Amino acid sequence: MPILEVDQVVKRYGNKLSVDHLNLSVNKGEIFGLLGPNGAGKSTTISMIAGLLKMDQGEIRLDGISVKERPLEVKRKIGLVPQDLALYETMTAADNVTFFARLYGLRGKLLKERVQESLEFVGLQDKAKEVPSTFSGGMKRRLNIACAIMHRPDLIIMDEPTVGIDPQSRNHILESVRTLNNMGSTIIYTSHYMEEVAAISHRVAIMDQGHIIACGTEKELRERVASTEKIVLTTSVINPSAIEEMKLHPRVKNVEVADDTITITVPSAQQDMQDMLFICNKHDLAIQSLQVEEPDLETLFLNLTGRTLRD
Ligand code: ADP
Repeated sequence: MPILEVDQVVKRYGNKLSVDHLNLSVNKGEIFGLLGPNGAGKSTTISMIAGLLKMDQGEIRLDGISVKERPLEVKRKIGLVPQDLALYETMTAADNVTFFARLYGLRGKLLKERVQESLEFVGLQDKAKEVPSTFSGGMKRRLNIACAIMHRPDLIIMDEPTVGIDPQSRNHILESVRTLNNMGSTIIYTSHYMEEVAAISHRVAIMDQGHIIACGTEKELRERVASTEKIVLTTSVINPSAIEEMKLHPRVKNVEVADDTITITVPSAQQDMQDMLFICNKHDLAIQSLQVEEPDLETLFLNLTGRTLRD
């Protein structure tokens, strides 16, 4: 059953269509991943869902309630963890959460309980009396999550919550997303990290240039690129002329080079391997390891747009 419906939503900045007749339906109780490169329109979409930004056209409904008609009601049901930190650096962690709790109308004993509960939830209970200016980036982000969940929202939206943070905080955040979901919250999770979105989400929507270009479970999306594989080679030296020749091969869809690794996207590793090895041989590339990888969401994006997700 859908909790959120986004219907033909449009947002323009000047002449630029940042969100272009976007349709989206998120089911109650799911972790929904919104995956797309920088500039795809993810943050703009989220801001409109959360009622922070007005849409030019279209309609958004949460639990059947229109964001346009009853914005305050919708806001109360949403917990937004924005990409940019929204914290008061000189107030203690507990006071930051208290500030947001008051905005949501919590008072007295309940307010105290919820502040304590949400700080515990993000693992910052021992830092309650410390100020965020002394925190690491990951701790600040966890505090931001505490501020967004203390009113127990039905829908939690997290915008790129793991960008630029340490691995420990990253794991903590991913674990807390799963726990919040198990406790009954629906989650929308945006990222341009394919692996992360695929690992955590029940369904994924891939967004590009303001609209959704594919949506489904990871398995469904992978099946759409069943006729694509990656040949991954490591070599001692990378010879640019070999890379050029690979790129010019008519069956090769993409070639990526990172350090000593060459990743070649082809329709069939079995059929195309021989030609790739021939090119390596011709340009004296000594192959140290060779591996064939199954298609992933990156490959799907490449197939649908002709570009890589990382661009
Ligand atoms: P994402 O979150 O996927 O990286 P955004 O929603 O931030 O993408 O941006 C989508 C597009 O809208 C981009 O081209 C961006 O430059 C443009 N955009 C976003 N916010 C503004 C703004 N306040 N003014 C003008 N253009 C904007």
